[in-house]
Amino acid sequence: MRPRDLLTPTAAGLHSPPGDFHIDPTRPVKRALITHGHADHARAGHGAVLATPETLKIMAARYGDGFAGTTQAVALGETITIGGTQVTFHPAGHVLGSAQIAVEAGGLRIVASGDYKRRADPTCLPFVPVPCDIFITEATFALPVFRHPPAAGEIARLIRSLGQFPERAHLVGAYSLGKAQRVIRMLRDAGYDRTIYLHGSMEKLCRLYEAEGIALGPLAPATLKAGAKGDFAGAVVVCPPTEIAERWARRFPEPVASLASGWMRIRQRARQANVELPLIISDHADWDELTATIAELSPQEVWVTHGREEALTRWCELNGILAKPLHMVGYEENDGE
Ligand SMILES: [Zn+2]
Repeated sequence: MRPRDLLTPTAAGLHSPPGDFHIDPTRPVKRALITHGHADHARAGHGAVLATPETLKIMAARYGDGFAGTTQAVALGETITIGGTQVTFHPAGHVLGSAQIAVEAGGLRIVASGDYKRRADPTCLPFVPVPCDIFITEATFALPVFRHPPAAGEIARLIRSLGQFPERAHLVGAYSLGKAQRVIRMLRDAGYDRTIYLHGSMEKLCRLYEAEGIALGPLAPATLKAGAKGDFAGAVVVCPPTEIAERWARRFPEPVASLASGWMRIRQRARQANVELPLIISDHADWDELTATIAELSPQEVWVTHGREEALTRWCELNGILAKPLHMVGYEENDGE
């Protein structure tokens, strides 16, 4: 069997003809296999959805219980036969419930890794390298300029700023699924035990993480109803990245605009977003993680999708690995960045 007969890029996303399913489809399909809960990968309206139990819960929290015709939970490591294929989900290390999907038929194995990272993350299982013939990799941060520093050091910078400016509220912009919970959990691991305040859009997913066993410590809504503006002096308020420099932010005392994102490596981007305290914390693999993962797996061929496809394809070619960009549309560069 040729690789493209097992899995092939289409307008709706990756499609498997012998399995008659799509992976992370960008439009409604009959049968969808979902790698993780970020909005551009996990959409509502499919006939049937197969995903990890955590991803199904995240989709239900975001879209309501009727987000698909039918749902089926798959355990990590469990192999399911779909049509003429066998599929197995493996941890991707990206966010809670995130998985790589291995698709096999006729002795050929393709791994669609979805989004992934190799760094430790206290809120999800670590990435597991799965030997394969074809490895499909993301390329969000696939340029040599993107080298994420250790996340603990970035959290330490946030804690230092809290000590330095005890009268100012620290507004930390973080993607609501994954990044927000990781930042909160890492603050706890660094010994920060005060109440952390949440923008309304963060609350549901934080509660879901807690129900899944990821303790986040004392949390409270970031509303002024209960107290006065001064109550937020020296507090951490976690909110969507879009809110840190907006009108919403002005309700807090002398807000420090902070943002946890891999894009914060680019100073100009931090400046444009009016970020005073950029934190380089990413849920995506950086350049070193991407290239080390490909070198470690040493697949026959690499397919590159969403992001800087050309740069990673070129690196593969220079290192004697066959590679091609998939040019699929519909995936966002700001997905849990
Ligand atoms: Zn993602």
